Amino acid sequence: MALTTIDNFINNEFVKPTEGAYFDTFNPAHGVPHAQIPDSTKPDVELAYKAASTAFPIWSKTPKAERARILYKIADLIDARQDEFVRAESKDQGKPVSLAKAIDIPRAAYNFRFFAGRILHSVEEGAELEGVGYNYTQRMPIGVAGLISPWNLPLYLLTWKIAPCIACGNTAICKPSEFTSLTAYMLCSVLKEAGLPAGVVNMVFGTGMKAGQALVEHPRIPLISFTGGTVTGAKIIANSAPHFKKLSLELGGKNANIIFADCDFEKALTTTLRSSFANQGEICLCGSRIFVERPIYERFLNALVEGTKKLKVGDPSAADTNLGALVSKEHWEKVKGYVDLGVEEGGKIECGGKKPASLQGEFQNGYFLEPTIISGLTPSCRVMREEIFGPVVTVYAFDTEEEVIQIANDSEYGLSCSIWTENGRRQRRVAGEIQAGTVWVNTWMSRDLRMPFGGMKKSGLGREGGEHSLDFYTELKTICLAD
Ligand code: NAD
Repeated sequence: MALTTIDNFINNEFVKPTEGAYFDTFNPAHGVPHAQIPDSTKPDVELAYKAASTAFPIWSKTPKAERARILYKIADLIDARQDEFVRAESKDQGKPVSLAKAIDIPRAAYNFRFFAGRILHSVEEGAELEGVGYNYTQRMPIGVAGLISPWNLPLYLLTWKIAPCIACGNTAICKPSEFTSLTAYMLCSVLKEAGLPAGVVNMVFGTGMKAGQALVEHPRIPLISFTGGTVTGAKIIANSAPHFKKLSLELGGKNANIIFADCDFEKALTTTLRSSFANQGEICLCGSRIFVERPIYERFLNALVEGTKKLKVGDPSAADTNLGALVSKEHWEKVKGYVDLGVEEGGKIECGGKKPASLQGEFQNGYFLEPTIISGLTPSCRVMREEIFGPVVTVYAFDTEEEVIQIANDSEYGLSCSIWTENGRRQRRVAGEIQAGTVWVNTWMSRDLRMPFGGMKKSGLGREGGEHSLDFYTELKTICLAD
């Protein structure tokens, strides 16, 4: 089958990478290449910079109402092409079509709608300085932003950056993950069709080491929004430091899912199946460390194992598939390595742990892994401390509230946490003690884009969402007018 060729998008035109080199990207469900990605380098970033910096003076002065109109149009066009985007996201990433249709693509459209509305309704501060005059604040667009995104929620997370960035009047150079560039490529045509002026959003495809690093090290790109792994985040901090860039870093997690004996058992169970294995466990917010209060430990574990065994793994395009393929062969090997490590560390595989035997035909070469539950490990084990980012969870019994708070917080990460209890005072007490950017009580993945989102500790720097995104994508200035 002919491979789709992806090209860079600079100044509203599709252009070949300057060095002419491409590499293959794989369909994870079949384990075969399905597209070719430009292996972009510094000169490509330079071309994109030229386009973005030329567009900036005009776009930054374009009235908010006009910017919002174009963002609404982009959202409408994504909706109109929803099926196409859904199929492409599933083929490129390995996720079930049902998930891309329910979450990824609608959210990509909503990101544009949300920030279109947000800029129209934001009000700046103003205060009288008695005896002197009047202060007010003004938000200034910053310039050309570098937007670097990961492979797990490709279009969802890329548009979470593009929408506030351009809504605030900046221009952008995007570097989507080299594993999942297809929907970003499709978005380029949507941006053009929506009437976004040339140069406002540019897309440079390729690897992190070449294209990504060239963005981070570019001396005239003043802000970088990055979502990805913690190790990469550390490199971005180091490489951007000489230029004092504004950074937003959304990084890895090892999130706790705390289940008290007084929880709504069925609700906790059903949601835990999702929070453990949605998107093959490849969501930074998945709750991979499950802590269950001892009185219900056996019952909960048995029910979780039973529910997990019923999950269907395989053809991502089948409507009843729960888990598709992991994103790449390398990632499959990494995740499987953690399953093996779990056994070495003394854990018991309650279910899963291997490639499903049921795979037929072309799917036999895909990167599928059964959803896996490991018990019997202690909180000091590597499998309970390191981010796995796959369909692998550990289950551990705890005795007291103090103990579980201590274990949940004894992590170098602090992205999110779920707490399950019907006791109102305990809900607030435990939520108040947990070191994580987002704490959910009796729910998971309930996202309100008006609220701050980000990680504590090695899960990130800064917050995005609502006003916090405006803070990141603008410089806030105070102007004092004397009487
Ligand atoms: P990654 O860090 O390998 O890559 C992310 C992006 O950074 C890719 O586009 C990649 O090409 C680029 N990149 C790699 N090296 C770079 C460098 N030196 N300079 C500039 N760019 C570089 O991450 P991944 O494997 O794509 O994604 C998985 C990770 O992302 C997990 O750790 C997950 O927890 C995290 N994640 C976090 C959030 C969040 O909101 N906190 C959301 C999704 C994913």
